[in-house]
Amino acid sequence: MEKRKLGNSGLLVSLVGLGCNNFGGMRESLDVEGARLVVHAAMDAGVNFFDTADAYGVNGGSEIVLGEILGSNREEIVLASKFALPMNPEKSTRYNGSRGYIMKAVEDSLRRLKTDYIDLYQYHFPDPQTPIEETLRALDDLVRQGKVRYVASSNLAPWQLIDAWWTTRHHNLHSLLSTQHEYSLLERGVETSLFPALERTGISLLPYFPLASGLLTGKYRKGQAIPEDTRMSMPYFQAGMTDERLDTVGKLIAFAESRGHTMLELAMSWLGSNPLVSSIIAGATRPEQVTANAKSVGWKLSAEDLTEIDVITGK
Ligand code: NAP
Repeated sequence: MEKRKLGNSGLLVSLVGLGCNNFGGMRESLDVEGARLVVHAAMDAGVNFFDTADAYGVNGGSEIVLGEILGSNREEIVLASKFALPMNPEKSTRYNGSRGYIMKAVEDSLRRLKTDYIDLYQYHFPDPQTPIEETLRALDDLVRQGKVRYVASSNLAPWQLIDAWWTTRHHNLHSLLSTQHEYSLLERGVETSLFPALERTGISLLPYFPLASGLLTGKYRKGQAIPEDTRMSMPYFQAGMTDERLDTVGKLIAFAESRGHTMLELAMSWLGSNPLVSSIIAGATRPEQVTANAKSVGWKLSAEDLTEIDVITGK
């Protein structure tokens, strides 16, 4: 498995990572035994980067499940978590980046994950009430205390990312290595807005929803029944499966198959062809999915391929 540098650091992450937002929750979520199969299949396939958050699952369920599973493998992986989203939205809906909140959040995450350090601690969503310097100083302190090895962001607007970058430089604080944003063949908005900021700062992109919740795996086709036991079989997710998106997916499937590849290989290899991307944090509900995802980044797309893909996706 190819490994890439994360931002301006010596930290190497596998090009295919594992998103763990479907561990420890309700509905389609995986319990410890289900998640164990997925995590071990990922490690067997060379995946070393695991992305979770305190807010994933019920009451920190995703972190709890990972804490149960990792055991002696903890040292071998790069463990990323996040803070700032409300843990109990009935009590508070605030996105919180304040110092006091972060200091408690990290202790709670460490306890749930059964570890004494988090490799990459990410600011999940920006808190409009807290000055960025306060958040970044708290994160810097966590690195100095050894509780966190590196810091990163998620869902910052481009101006907020540049503001954070300047703040860390100006005050000599640990800088953000990466940022998470939705990015896939079906969602390319960040290319014009965020990419110039990433190029300027050297901050890496960790694209989330890389498979558009499974739409880009080839298992959903226009006019065909939605396979059972999939995310798209749940009414909540079906809004993302519009005719327009299915038409684009149909064209992408034809493009991939005409070149001897699968839709999954196209979705993952296209992301991997972008040097701004360090790790593609696809989620999986079954071990065979993560095995397939890990193998799917080997297609070297030519400049002509990329141009044709732009036409199909309406870029
Ligand atoms: P995704 O990666 O686009 O889709 C994952 C889903 O697609 C799986 O749960 C599985 O669902 C299906 N799938 C995956 N591989 C497959 C394969 N090879 N064949 C067939 N189906 C396959 O979406 P995601 O998991 O929601 O997002 C990825 C990660 O990004 C999350 O786990 C999380 O770590 C991160 N994330 C971050 C943010 C943020 O704000 N920073 C937001 C969202 C997500 P079924 O088996 O149910 O069909």
